Amino acid sequence: MSPENLALKIREKAMGAGFDHCGIVKVDAVAEYALRLEQRVAAFPRSKPYYEFLAKLGTPNAAHEWGRSIIVCTMRYGKYRIPNQANNHIGKLYLYGGYKQPSYSREYAGIAAFDAFLAAEGIRFAKELFGIAPARLCAAKANLGIIRNNNFLYTEHGSWVWLETWLIDRELEYRERPKTLPSCPPGCSRCIDACPTGALKAPFLTDMGTCIARLTYSPSGEEAPEHLRESMGAWLYGCDDCQNACPMNRDRWEETEEYPQLEELSRHISLEKIAEMDEETVSRILSPMFWIIGKDKLWMWKCNVIRAMANSKDARYSGAIRKLCDDGNDNVRRTAEWACRQLGI
Ligand code: SF4
Ligand code: SF4
Repeated sequence: MSPENLALKIREKAMGAGFDHCGIVKVDAVAEYALRLEQRVAAFPRSKPYYEFLAKLGTPNAAHEWGRSIIVCTMRYGKYRIPNQANNHIGKLYLYGGYKQPSYSREYAGIAAFDAFLAAEGIRFAKELFGIAPARLCAAKANLGIIRNNNFLYTEHGSWVWLETWLIDRELEYRERPKTLPSCPPGCSRCIDACPTGALKAPFLTDMGTCIARLTYSPSGEEAPEHLRESMGAWLYGCDDCQNACPMNRDRWEETEEYPQLEELSRHISLEKIAEMDEETVSRILSPMFWIIGKDKLWMWKCNVIRAMANSKDARYSGAIRKLCDDGNDNVRRTAEWACRQLGI
């Protein structure tokens, strides 16, 4: 089969698997990613370790020398009902994250079918849970959408889209016709103004060190620094503020479908309930969907909950916070003591 026909076949299968868009770019197309990371490190030297974690995305064939191209696909999630309990506590992307882990979602099944197709075609591929290549950059290069000032990729569905990448051993290319999406309006800075910690400093310039999303599930396992806790508000896992504020996301979310099992899961998403959870319950209920906080990081959930309780200034949480001052984990105890100071209890 000619490379052109194989690229078309891959795209056709991706669309059949439920993706909205699919493109293929050669690995060289992501070479500029390293430069983008360097610019961020220069702007935020203290956050250097977090960018080092991302560096391997810019050279996906360093670990897989056979890699030639990257398939990148997008899939809309801004169609699912948003449970009230989770709103402004859990970043919306993660509520519908079953496409990555549990096997009950339609998305997960579609992606598994696409993987099986690649294998059946004899195409060697690699993918990773956190992505194998800079997905937003690949998607923009393949004309699947545009990256806006808040760094998110937007398609006609706004920024509420999942992205998935595969490194493959074939030299292929497929670009969609360039989108006619409008640029960010001149002078618009709503995303920057909405960022509670000031992590989004300027267009395309986010400080990972102070971004709430990273702070809530820090893979390096630190407590959020005291000076940022108040501005982190009620977020427990992720943060949507710079996407929620964006006019290009207006009317791009239509709650037309239920996401499987989310109703049941959302019954457990309450500050009081998470404050009381033990390791087994977190591992069974929260971890399958919110997997970035490891199963053994019960303390991280509790610190996030205590901070959200303190920031609510709601006196009904005083008892729970006091109780957590006696928690067996140092991080939890310290955060609870901080909350007591904040609330004068
Ligand atoms: S996710 Fe939240 S903290 Fe991070 S840049 Fe956006 S608004 Fe700021
Ligand atoms: S809020 Fe304004 S500047 Fe920011 S991404 Fe949206 S349109 Fe662009």
